[in-house]
Amino acid sequence: MPSPTTDPTSLDPERCVVVATGNAHKLAEIRAILSPAMPGVRFYALSELGSFPDPEETGETFEANALIKALAALEGCGIPAIADDSGLVVDALDGAPGVRSARWAGEHGNDAANNERLLREMADVPEPRRTARFHSCVVLVRPDGSVLEGNGDCEGRVGFEPRGDQGFGYDPLFLPDDTPGRTMAELVPDEKNAISHRFHALADLARQLA
Ligand code: IMP
Repeated sequence: MPSPTTDPTSLDPERCVVVATGNAHKLAEIRAILSPAMPGVRFYALSELGSFPDPEETGETFEANALIKALAALEGCGIPAIADDSGLVVDALDGAPGVRSARWAGEHGNDAANNERLLREMADVPEPRRTARFHSCVVLVRPDGSVLEGNGDCEGRVGFEPRGDQGFGYDPLFLPDDTPGRTMAELVPDEKNAISHRFHALADLARQLA
């Protein structure tokens, strides 16, 4: 993690936004999709502006958790802040793992254990009932208290065995409807970015900003 180089109090809140993520790919995706809708605005990673503790994601919805992360970044930096929260929603599991996607098997971010649990819980679920979607909620909060929210889904099915080595999280077990026969982990980044839940959520937010 590079050391902070910019004092957030020196930034113009009209021309700067902080993105509350430690994920470089998300930052690049957010910058690419929102830049045309926010001309002249510079996007900073939270880590470029200081060392801020991760807030606890105690919300029961994607929206609530995205808001918790965005408000923490706004409070820490004093400039508009963007955060997203996402996860996998499986119909046969009544929406699980949902907001608990990252920590479903216990330890936060243990993708292998999460995928094992998904396969286990879906073992007796036949193909037609394996429908699921990735959901993403992106929020933009501003110092004046305004909140904008974009939502997006990527519809698909849960596979019977993991395939592919791209991406992260549940990608090896998720077969998007947009790419028949291939898991999300078998898509190159550009292919995934064109159909992903985050892409759709950011596009939704960009439409509201335009
Ligand atoms: P976060 O919102 O990025 O923290 O995502 C929470 C969890 O949802 C991740 O740890 C993954 O398990 C899952 N997830 C979110 N987006 C994706 C994705 O694009 N592919 C696979 N898993 C994802």
